[in-house]
Amino acid sequence: MIRRRLPLTAIISSSLIAGGLLMLDLPQSEETPHALKVPMTHTASLSAPSMSVGSSANAAIQPDPVSQPREELPQSYLRTLEVGSGDTLMKILLGAGINRGDAHTAIQALRTEYDPRRLRPGQEIQVSFQPGRHEDMPHTFKEMRLSTGFNTEVYVARAEEGEYQAHEETKELVTTLHRADGEIDSSLYLAASKAGLPASLLMEFIFAYSFDVDFQRDIQKGDRFEVMYEKVETEDGSRSKVGNILFASLSLSGDRMPIYRFKEKSGRIAYFNDKGQSAQKALMRTPINGARLSSGFGKRRHPILGYSKMHTGVDFAAPRGTPIYAAGDGVLDYAGRKGGYGKYIRIRHNSEYQTAYAHMRSFRKGMYKGKRVKQGQIIGYVGTTGRSTGPHLHYEIIRNGRKTNPLRVRMPSGKKLKGTELARFMDTKVKFDQQYAQLGPVISIGRLASAE
Ligand SMILES: [Zn+2]
Repeated sequence: MIRRRLPLTAIISSSLIAGGLLMLDLPQSEETPHALKVPMTHTASLSAPSMSVGSSANAAIQPDPVSQPREELPQSYLRTLEVGSGDTLMKILLGAGINRGDAHTAIQALRTEYDPRRLRPGQEIQVSFQPGRHEDMPHTFKEMRLSTGFNTEVYVARAEEGEYQAHEETKELVTTLHRADGEIDSSLYLAASKAGLPASLLMEFIFAYSFDVDFQRDIQKGDRFEVMYEKVETEDGSRSKVGNILFASLSLSGDRMPIYRFKEKSGRIAYFNDKGQSAQKALMRTPINGARLSSGFGKRRHPILGYSKMHTGVDFAAPRGTPIYAAGDGVLDYAGRKGGYGKYIRIRHNSEYQTAYAHMRSFRKGMYKGKRVKQGQIIGYVGTTGRSTGPHLHYEIIRNGRKTNPLRVRMPSGKKLKGTELARFMDTKVKFDQQYAQLGPVISIGRLASAE
């Protein structure tokens, strides 16, 4: 069978590995950049509203026992206000025609549940009015409601006696499972978007496999991907967001590599293969995004020196300024200029492994010898310092003091689950496999605050 290499440009161009990395250990929140957002419902006014509410601040507190709400007056109606930059809640309420006294009392009441200084531009506030009892005051302010979280709302309502009270409402969440799978025809990116996989999840997917798979070289036509992920919605369907990948699989040249999301006893959430081995390895093969492998490991004619020389690392061509990541947790044991390497950082990961990064334009602030770094943390930026013909990262993996081929080295494996943890993982695996097999259409897994 003829296999050809496929481009992955569309994916690699974003800083997705870093994004995925940062998200991996965190519970998904509504801040997830690609979370699906459904705007709050704008309720139209029930009849043509007059905006000239509250022309007199005193009108509301001068009850007129004889006058009743008259039929020609509009009924209650709602307005949706948006917080602009520099707005205070008082300013917004006054702008909506609410009198200062009412606005002040309502804000005081709100404070018992929510600090109005937390309002952010773009946030929406729904304000409702009811028919007033006075000719000068066709409507009086009745209630305001604002969203304070993905599924929480605070509302401040006027009681009969005219005072305001704040209440918090939590909407129930419904989690559904979804399946996206397909064959890779021209690129993983295209295949995934055709299958409806949200972009943020594609990034997570790539990150989860990035320790084992070189996405620029290993993906070929006919390879397959499978993903089962969550979608979380409020019960009333007003808001929804993408949840987590629970199960994924990548089949390269017919080899299926499934991974499962699992919460360890320690509380850490990670992906494990079907044998309970962590998908995340101690070291990354490619500690950079947006890069193209421009020179492999081994003997080559040196572009500057002109004679054959052993190339002791791999080169990734990338635009100047592209972030470079620490390939694994460790301590910087060198950060400075180093001859032909130019600006150079070396990280000691353990007694066996070190990684080195050369020709950097600059180091990230605070990167000095002795600094402890985490896998995926930015340590510096691509440049062309030292003996170099153009911007690229020269990357070395050093094992027991010997430079080895990063693309070939058997990665020090990540964690392997054991004993009762492994048994618990296997239960999860069986459950996810069954759920995935049943998926096609959406299946509901009930009301979960957030499935983990
Ligand atoms: Zn090199």
